[in-house]
Amino acid sequence: MSELIQIGEGASAFTHRRLPSHCVRPQARTPEIAGIERMLRARRLHSVCEEARCPNRSECWTAGHVTFMLLGSVCTRACRFCAVETGLPANAPDPAEPEQVARAAADLSLSHVVLTSVDRDDLPDGGAGQFAATVQALREARAETTVEVLTPDFQGDRSSVETVCDARPDVYNHNVETVPRLYRTVRPGARFERSLDVLSSARSARPGAVVKSGLMLGLGESEGEVVEVLEALLGAGVDSVTMGQYLRPTRHHLPVDRYWEPEEFETLAGAARDLGFSHVASGPLVRSSYHAGDAYAQMRGARLSETPAEGWR
Ligand code: SF4
Repeated sequence: MSELIQIGEGASAFTHRRLPSHCVRPQARTPEIAGIERMLRARRLHSVCEEARCPNRSECWTAGHVTFMLLGSVCTRACRFCAVETGLPANAPDPAEPEQVARAAADLSLSHVVLTSVDRDDLPDGGAGQFAATVQALREARAETTVEVLTPDFQGDRSSVETVCDARPDVYNHNVETVPRLYRTVRPGARFERSLDVLSSARSARPGAVVKSGLMLGLGESEGEVVEVLEALLGAGVDSVTMGQYLRPTRHHLPVDRYWEPEEFETLAGAARDLGFSHVASGPLVRSSYHAGDAYAQMRGARLSETPAEGWR
């Protein structure tokens, strides 16, 4: 349960729902967090953990897990759930960024690297080349490291999806984020069918890799609509899905319609497994990169035990 609390006073006051306890994580300040902040600044890199105000940052960074955000910190879209700054980026892709990410992954001894980016609709390839160059740099620097990409929709440009897939990421992730009925409100620059096409294109280009997607709950969707999205994702070739609670990052973002209970996330996880997903992560604070390396290792182990002769790369 949550209750309304008032923030501020007078004309500028607004009401905000106090977070239910299952949506709150302790935010400790640890030496590891400070070290990662210094390292990212020194290498002129960005993380989605910081830019999107992820509630798991304290836990993930203390454990040394960071999700790198390529192509700067300014996004050309204005999704109404997202805390990343919106605007017209002033910078071209930094040619040093792929190498800096590879060095940062070495600094952190990462065995599984997650790469995402802002949307760069101002670039002819949407930034696909920078994803590919970064996967390549990681492969050259750390051959044993597995790589997961979480890409934009590239405005539906299949050649951009193929550019990323040609670099052979181990996991191709693109989040549909919400149900089709809410796209106009939540993701005004996106289309549900276009996102599905990105996922099916990735499946075609990388038949042996993991294809992954995710949803936020709490924006006004019904359980039935979520199950319909799960069915559509499975039809597009997705084998791993994440579901987590939407948390309003600031008063300028969409309000939370409701907080789903932990038991409801469990019910949806069961429904997704029954439908046939190989891996499901569902819980209030699940995010697509949360424990992503563990999820990949589980899927890889299960698949190799079924078909031991089949390498995944
Ligand atoms: S869940 Fe993902 S985005 Fe959030 S802190 Fe962890 S690695 Fe970063």
